[in-house]
Amino acid sequence: MFENLSERLGGVFERLTKQGALSEDDVKTALREVRVALLEADVSLPVARDFVGRVQEKATGQAVTKSVTPGQQVVKIVHDELVATLTGEGDPGTLKIDNPPAPILMVGLQGGGKTTTTAKLAKRLTEREGKRVLMASLDVNRPAAMEQLQILGVQIGVDTLPIVKGETPVAIAKRAKTQASLGGYDVYMLDTAGRLSIDDELMAQVEAVRDVANPRETLLVVDGLTGQDAVTTAENFDERIGITGVVLTRMDGDGRGGAALSMRAVTGKPIRFVGLGEKMDALETFEPDRIAGRILG
Ligand code: GDP
Repeated sequence: MFENLSERLGGVFERLTKQGALSEDDVKTALREVRVALLEADVSLPVARDFVGRVQEKATGQAVTKSVTPGQQVVKIVHDELVATLTGEGDPGTLKIDNPPAPILMVGLQGGGKTTTTAKLAKRLTEREGKRVLMASLDVNRPAAMEQLQILGVQIGVDTLPIVKGETPVAIAKRAKTQASLGGYDVYMLDTAGRLSIDDELMAQVEAVRDVANPRETLLVVDGLTGQDAVTTAENFDERIGITGVVLTRMDGDGRGGAALSMRAVTGKPIRFVGLGEKMDALETFEPDRIAGRILG
């Protein structure tokens, strides 16, 4: 995650910090390179432009160029701006799951990692927070997806709602709620169906489920490798369904990380978790401060 960007920025800042005294032009040149590095990392143009603009504003003036360590000052400003760009409302790793049983709606396109992430999150809630979790697959068009969730449930020791053939997604959501209440579960997770692309039927189905479930959290799971497309997908889902956060998957394979950097700035919705592999433990909280530290090395 972010290896390429980190390397590029590392080069820029190494030159800058080595230089000792800095003129405003030196800072400008460095920031131009930062902008190029961001664009190469697939950060969206307006986000890269605004980002560099804000850094420029703060790095211009006596305080920075006349300081003893001007290069380091600029790096600090970049760090703080990165954190600000990535930070959303609330603590990313804390899901709103008071008032049991709390419904969590998992949405996204097919193949984005929704089912895997549902199980990863269920495992995390069970192990780290001692919650009793029930998972239900609503993917009535793909029996294999329903079975996949069941298999993962057995693997991680989390209950799944028994599969009943011929039910609608709304009926499954209602049954999950009843089962969660009767069974004394803290959380029930609804793994909705995905499509290869956003279509009206998918959205209408997810909307109907949302309306009966009234979820405390609606998490969009999206493949980080798709870069700007991931951000567009998030905009679309948020507009239609209303999401409370994003889980970016396959970040283990993304050396650029543009989607991660643009997501909050473009959609207003924070990244809550990142998927870093296929294993059930490969899920990390997206902590802006740590991420900024990782990018700046
Ligand atoms: P869904 O169709 O959205 O439910 O997607 P799945 O959960 O079935 O995931 C599709 C594929 O992506 C599976 O082979 C997963 O193991 C894989 N996958 C999911 N998340 C990650 C991740 O964070 N990193 C990697 N490398 N693979 C992932």
